[in-house]
Amino acid sequence: MKSLFSRFKKGLLKTTTSVTRGISSVFTEDKRWTDEQFDDLENLLISSDFGVAASLSIVADIRERYEQGKIATSADIDKISAADVCRILSRNQREIHYAPEGQLTVILFVGVNGSGKTTSIGKLASLWKKEGKKVMLAACDTFRAAAVEQLKLWGERSGTHVVSAIHGADPSSVAFDAVKSAQARNADILLIDTAGRQHTSKGLMAELSKICRTINKIYPGAPHEVCLTIDSSQGSNAINQAREFSKAADVTGLVLTKLDGTGKGGMAVALQQEFGFPVLFVGLGEGPEDMQEFNPQFYANALFDVDSEE
Ligand code: GDP
Ligand code: MG
Repeated sequence: MKSLFSRFKKGLLKTTTSVTRGISSVFTEDKRWTDEQFDDLENLLISSDFGVAASLSIVADIRERYEQGKIATSADIDKISAADVCRILSRNQREIHYAPEGQLTVILFVGVNGSGKTTSIGKLASLWKKEGKKVMLAACDTFRAAAVEQLKLWGERSGTHVVSAIHGADPSSVAFDAVKSAQARNADILLIDTAGRQHTSKGLMAELSKICRTINKIYPGAPHEVCLTIDSSQGSNAINQAREFSKAADVTGLVLTKLDGTGKGGMAVALQQEFGFPVLFVGLGEGPEDMQEFNPQFYANALFDVDSEE
């Protein structure tokens, strides 16, 4: 069994390589560090999608410590950056909200097309199934026949039941049936997949609100989480998506996917600074075991190649 920290390290490798190489090439130990070098560090962090606010505050912290004579090597910079990032991400970090013991937990997934909703649901179904939970899936992406098939495939793979309806059915009614059916079967967790939509499409965004209202009407307290799935290589577009989706559906947390595919894995930090949403899950690779609950310390230490205790 691979350790959890090593999964974060492997998934974030592209970003880690670019960030730590950048830092060690900017800061050489034998001469006095200049404004220019600190500006380079700022640019490096911004270009890795840490966001302007976080990048400025990390560099200010490092600079202050340097002027106080407390740091002298690029490895010190890695360590301080990791600690700063961890502190920013820990601000709103929390456990997943589950329903009280013995009751159904409903988790809704929203996000633009291709952000990784269906794949994340499939991976989480496997993960929770392995932990002995009874999981069910709902295919509320009734737009595309292929979407239902994709979810069914994950259902087969993980041995979880999938509630679906005919092509073009009202997604809210599928959500309604799925909640009823999951309660009747005493399921522990129901994961609801929705159609991808551009955050700019008003009609589809209204449909999302309707799904949430329908679920909440038949099952007060649900959905327990509304996960906005974001492809972490999207840059500033991710920020726009978060803004628009949080208006239409009460987004409670983020799922950051494809961290393994980007050298700009700082996005979790930018999103945290801007919106304060906790990151609930991260996609660190293609396999089911590469979807993990977020851990700010593992993420921060992996990014700056600092050791972490498990
Ligand atoms: P959806 O339209 O939001 O449902 O997106 P999908 O779940 O269909 O995912 C779109 C593509 O992204 C698929 O090819 C997935 O295999 C891929 N994908 C999703 N999450 C990850 C991830 O964490 N890492 C990698 N490497 N690929 C991912
Ligand atoms: Mg999908």
